[in-house]
Amino acid sequence: MGDLMQGKRGLVMGVANHNSIAWGAAKALASQGAEIALTYQGDAFGRRVKPLAAEIDSRLVLPCDVEDPASLDAVFDTLKREWGSIDFVLHAIAFSDKSELKGLYADTTRENFTRTMVISCFSFTEVAKRAAAIMGNGGSMVTMTYGGAVRVMPNYNVMGVAKAALEASVRYLAADFGPRNIRVNAVSAGPVRTLAGAGVSDARLMFNYQRRNAPMRRNTTIEEVGGAVLYLMSELANGVTGEIHYVDSGYNIMSMPALDELKE
Ligand code: NAD
Repeated sequence: MGDLMQGKRGLVMGVANHNSIAWGAAKALASQGAEIALTYQGDAFGRRVKPLAAEIDSRLVLPCDVEDPASLDAVFDTLKREWGSIDFVLHAIAFSDKSELKGLYADTTRENFTRTMVISCFSFTEVAKRAAAIMGNGGSMVTMTYGGAVRVMPNYNVMGVAKAALEASVRYLAADFGPRNIRVNAVSAGPVRTLAGAGVSDARLMFNYQRRNAPMRRNTTIEEVGGAVLYLMSELANGVTGEIHYVDSGYNIMSMPALDELKE
């Protein structure tokens, strides 16, 4: 175990199971000495998250549904009461109706557009505001995004629009909180096999396509994403804010499929 995060306390939101990106990040942060509080969405996830919390000695495991502002208030009230202040927060939360993560973006309904935006984008602003209020001596916030925010990915649809707004939120929040030495960044991960990832139609095809065409010819792991989150949360990234940091085996730099793929 290293000590990059020794003496630091923070909140990790979005662990659903051991495949979750948030779990990769929680493990990386804990391995460097961070004390971590976890949230879970509802009792069914709670039953999966509590044993994981025990693995990283996380004693604060709190329910939170970001559609309900009162449940967010309760989480931050508890953190303030138990710890007084926090040093970091990871937001790894997204949702959209599966039936709209396929077909045409143009067919997105007003109801699902709004819900997707609230859960996948605005909740980060709501979390950031509450977290900043209990960050004493500076801090670091990270959210999770995807390349579908800046380029069209088939079927990603309304989630791509929400991620674009989320990435813009990162920049505005970084400007808001920078004077208080609070940094705000996003990690843009390549496709990972998770519950949320599986909600996108043809996810398996996109997963395989990235593996064959990314410069490193492999998919992204939750451990790799966790390493980048750890860096952004740690003092190694003290000069970094407002960034969208890609952890995608380099896929985002390519403008066309790999030549070996085309020659096959
Ligand atoms: P996941 O299913 O493991 O995690 C998604 C989490 O969002 C779950 O813990 C779920 O409980 C939570 N969530 C959804 N609605 C919520 C609500 N109303 N209140 C509270 N929590 C809620 O999947 P993941 O892939 O680890 O997703 C984490 C983040 O990473 C998401 O923002 C996702 O968009 C992003 N991301 C995923 C991929 C991928 O390919 N899997 C790639 C890039 C970015």
